[in-house]
Amino acid sequence: MSTPLIGVLALQGDVREHLIALAAADAVARPVRRPEELAEVDGLVIPGGESTTISKLAELFGLMEPLRERIAAGMPVYGTCAGLIMLADKILDPRSGQETLGGIDMIVRRNAFGRQNESFEAAVEVAGVEGGPVEGVFIRAPWVESVGARAEVVAEHDGHIVAVRQGNALATSFHPELTGDHRVHALFVDMVRAAG
Ligand code: GLN
Repeated sequence: MSTPLIGVLALQGDVREHLIALAAADAVARPVRRPEELAEVDGLVIPGGESTTISKLAELFGLMEPLRERIAAGMPVYGTCAGLIMLADKILDPRSGQETLGGIDMIVRRNAFGRQNESFEAAVEVAGVEGGPVEGVFIRAPWVESVGARAEVVAEHDGHIVAVRQGNALATSFHPELTGDHRVHALFVDMVRAAG
């Protein structure tokens, strides 16, 4: 597979920025809103936004089960921020009725970096990304409280886990799509190529 086709879950959130970052990282990228569109892609990005809203809309659009099935079958998937929450097997503080897709053996805390520090930027060293730290943009970001044996911590900030990889699933609590630095997307595109 030379040029993978990668979808961006386009229910809510910063879809356009991910489409641009993926194209810059040499993938063909397109929005995914329907199960038929999901079936066509080699990998999927779940953007940031509001995880409760994304989960409700995924239910409404009939995407919850198809997404769970493809993730369980090993489709490469990358979640940023709310997308990281969607990939967690467990949320510490879910809103009532909030569901995740799961896929990564980790427990997340929503809005963990707190009120006073709702949004900030920090240099983050990401395992597997060469060339120095990436600029991490954190927006009401979650952190990962703990990971299970199958998950690998790939970045930390201030003693908190902010990026995790498990097999073909990658998640960051920050937003690389907002910085113009496409190295994290390039890592994901490589994961999709390797899986194909
Ligand atoms: N706080 C949001 C949530 O709980 C995530 C914020 C983001 O994606 N930037 O879903």
